[in-house]
Amino acid sequence: MTEFSKLVELCVKLEGTNKKNEKSQFIGEFLNTLIEEEIATAVLLILGKIFSSTDSRTLNVSGATINRVMKRIADEKESSELEDRPPLSIIDVHKYFAEIASTSGKGSRKRIDDLLTELFILSNPQEVEYLMKMIAGEMRHGVADGVMIKAISEAVDAGLRKTQRAAMFLGDIGELARIAIVEGKEALLAVDLRLMGAVEPMLAQLAKSVDEVFAEYSGKTVLEYKYDGARVQIHKNGDEVAVFSRQRSDVTGSLPEIVELTRNSISADTAILDGEVVAVGEGDKPMPFQELMRRFKRVHEIESVMKEVPVKLYLFDLIYLNGESLIDSPYQQRWGMLKEISGGNFMAERIITEDPAEAKAFLQSAMDSGHEGLMAKSLTSNYAPGARGKKWFKIKPSETLDVVIIAGEWGHGRRQGWLSNYHLAVRNEETGEYMLVGKTFKGLTDQQFLEMTERLQSLKISEDDATVYVKPHIVAEIAYNEIQKSPHYKSGYALRFARITGFREDKSPEQADTISQLEKLYLKQFERKAKAGWS
Ligand code: AMP
Repeated sequence: MTEFSKLVELCVKLEGTNKKNEKSQFIGEFLNTLIEEEIATAVLLILGKIFSSTDSRTLNVSGATINRVMKRIADEKESSELEDRPPLSIIDVHKYFAEIASTSGKGSRKRIDDLLTELFILSNPQEVEYLMKMIAGEMRHGVADGVMIKAISEAVDAGLRKTQRAAMFLGDIGELARIAIVEGKEALLAVDLRLMGAVEPMLAQLAKSVDEVFAEYSGKTVLEYKYDGARVQIHKNGDEVAVFSRQRSDVTGSLPEIVELTRNSISADTAILDGEVVAVGEGDKPMPFQELMRRFKRVHEIESVMKEVPVKLYLFDLIYLNGESLIDSPYQQRWGMLKEISGGNFMAERIITEDPAEAKAFLQSAMDSGHEGLMAKSLTSNYAPGARGKKWFKIKPSETLDVVIIAGEWGHGRRQGWLSNYHLAVRNEETGEYMLVGKTFKGLTDQQFLEMTERLQSLKISEDDATVYVKPHIVAEIAYNEIQKSPHYKSGYALRFARITGFREDKSPEQADTISQLEKLYLKQFERKAKAGWS
């Protein structure tokens, strides 16, 4: 078993270099020294993740808990009997975290404090420092998933692109490393689409307007309504049906009517369908996104919430049919097969056109029907799991960004006692760092301020007089008027008049918008401004 101190040594080495090649080399060498049971855990810990993204467990250790535990350790100097224990292993650390995550109910606060105290006492000061970084999910050594996948590919000489492809199919980076190191390169390259194993969904780039999309795709373009709901990937294996969320967690239990509908109305032995579920009200009008989330949060009494929040399914893709992957088939062919097996039911509204005026009218009809905008798709494109390329565009008329809240400031006056000025950040995809791009206290109701105050305190990492700094966890959708260059923020950008328009409970912080997306939007802004004659 490998000592945890070796993993900490690696993290220190990673901090000591800015070169990606060196980072991936150090990680690759380290992974090759591990035994099978340690690999997945080690990969996650290096990335500052305690559990894999498909694991529904969370750690629930707030900054306040850490402060309490640190104080307790400082006060009780005679932690003697633990000192004779053998050094902590990587597996020991995982066991402590797993036990903390599974502790709930009466007496859990004390039990969590006890476990964490024990873990910290068994660690040296440097190890404690890194354990805290892991708990906060902020490693600050510049290694995010991209570098890790590169390291895994190099460790077994599998080629980066092929390893990236395997990562998309598997959706679990720890398992990816285990397969590579233990089962070898051939096994890694053989990873493919699997029935009942969620694959990363294909994503879209943001386009400002219909015209921008036409400039990108010459000739005929597919336009579909963009529904404002939750992405679902439905796997059908005979009568067995599983539904996965965008994060690839299993949400089958929350959506019994989707299971029924797939079983009864999709005529295929095996299939993987891609679509969106939307909460609907009277006359099948879409309801706000928050309503839909009630369906996913509810674990008990699904029946009653099913009645309160009925959902509608819209299908827009088919990636596997009767034993064969359709990932590499063109869009139009996939759509045709989807239509056949669904009998033309549940299909997303769409047109194929090369006429911008027709496209604009279609966008207007989408908005008039209460949907978010349009998706534009290339007729010939394959299905690219996890990719946010130019094969799909989303056209959302209002300008929004999905940002991560990394701190909240105590309010004054009417907002006294609430954490109400939120620090908004985008992710630097190279380093994994969350970079400040603005602050706002606009857009929330009093009730929401109260809820946010509580939520932020439970995510606290540290605080000073005015500000509570939190784990990057909450993703907020914000509208803004303009992106400005900022000399004050390290990101280099500041959002003008940012206001919160919603919360993206379906997105993890890694899926929030990134600094390079912001940069692109910043540059594009000038095209529009110039046209409007503002500058
Ligand atoms: P966003 O979440 O803003 O990045 O937009 C992409 C999301 O739009 C997808 O992940 C889907 O959940 C959703 N969506 C709604 N309608 C469609 C559609 N017709 N095609 C693809 N995605 C859609």
